[in-house]
Amino acid sequence: MISAECRATFVSLLESELKQQQVEPVVREYRAGEVIFEEGDPGDGLYAILNGLVRISAFVSQSNKHALREFAAGDFFGEMAIINNASRSATATAQQDSRLLFVSRDQVTDLMEQSPQLVFALLHAFSLRMRETNSHFVHEMLEAERLSLMGRFARSIVHDLKNPLSVIALAADATASERASPELRAQAKKRIHQQVQRLTHMLNELLRVSEGSTQHALEPVNFATYFAEVIDQTRDELENKKVVVEVQAAAPDIVLPLNTRRLDHVFFNLFNNAADFMPDGGRIMVRFEQNPREIYAEVEDTGPGFKPGIVDKLFTPFFTDGKPTGTGLGLSICKNIVEDHGGRIWPKEVAGCGGVFCFTLPLKA
Ligand code: ADP
Repeated sequence: MISAECRATFVSLLESELKQQQVEPVVREYRAGEVIFEEGDPGDGLYAILNGLVRISAFVSQSNKHALREFAAGDFFGEMAIINNASRSATATAQQDSRLLFVSRDQVTDLMEQSPQLVFALLHAFSLRMRETNSHFVHEMLEAERLSLMGRFARSIVHDLKNPLSVIALAADATASERASPELRAQAKKRIHQQVQRLTHMLNELLRVSEGSTQHALEPVNFATYFAEVIDQTRDELENKKVVVEVQAAAPDIVLPLNTRRLDHVFFNLFNNAADFMPDGGRIMVRFEQNPREIYAEVEDTGPGFKPGIVDKLFTPFFTDGKPTGTGLGLSICKNIVEDHGGRIWPKEVAGCGGVFCFTLPLKA
């Protein structure tokens, strides 16, 4: 960030120069969400923020607008168009109700002619902004490269390898224990076998994708029977983490088109995320509803809920927060899978509740 001192130097110098030159300051007020100027508008002056918050954004493609940065009280913006005598290169929008000091291009030029300190303060602020922009740009480039390097499906599979491997490790430990009863050993063997099947399936899926096929067949499946298997497969791992699954409204006894192997990932990811946020144990409440078009599912946990300000980013690949070993891929995978079924998935913020995710699955393909 530009040092507060440096921003304040320019803005306070500007204010004192205005006073000294007896130029009447123009104060403009904007409501939250109001556009201050648009990309392409004439660059008629600069703005200093007296209070509020302003976002500068620009189009990175024909339809995609990208937030470049935000400015708060004590900051200034809109100076570029004055310096290079051009139209606005970005759009400025008030993010909160804001009061701004507007100084026209002619006034700025006059003031700068009178005050070399003002020119230096502006240059200083500029050089710091430039440095900040460079490092931001490098970060964005690396991020874009990282995303393009990894195929959508390859990413999902790499992430999902973690879960079966941890079940296998747990089961292997259980069989290795001298005190393990024959029943426990048989159960662990079954778990290892199940998870090896899961891994084999994932690798086959990866192979299919690398061959160019992204078709994922949906087959008619009874949802109640399927969900009972999900519970059966996840119970032990969750019990180990002192997490219980409570089915508060039963899975509908209806046949619908599913790819159960892929849908498994959705439940496993949502359950594992919930468990990760309840390190001392807790409850996962699952509720289903059915209407003539779709099944609606809700998965709620008794953890701390979503950290303020992150819900919009939850499904963005690589977005992770509060998990030292998080990859940020789990939810974006869930979204791909649910959408490939023709459904939707979204988080629900409910005051006093933990994390809540909702998704739908259409009854007809
Ligand atoms: P990862 O779990 O690898 O971080 P995800 O895409 O599964 O990646 O999740 C992204 C982020 O969403 C998590 O890092 C976490 O901050 C947040 N999140 C997901 N599930 C929950 C939950 N049940 N409660 C609180 N936060 C959650």
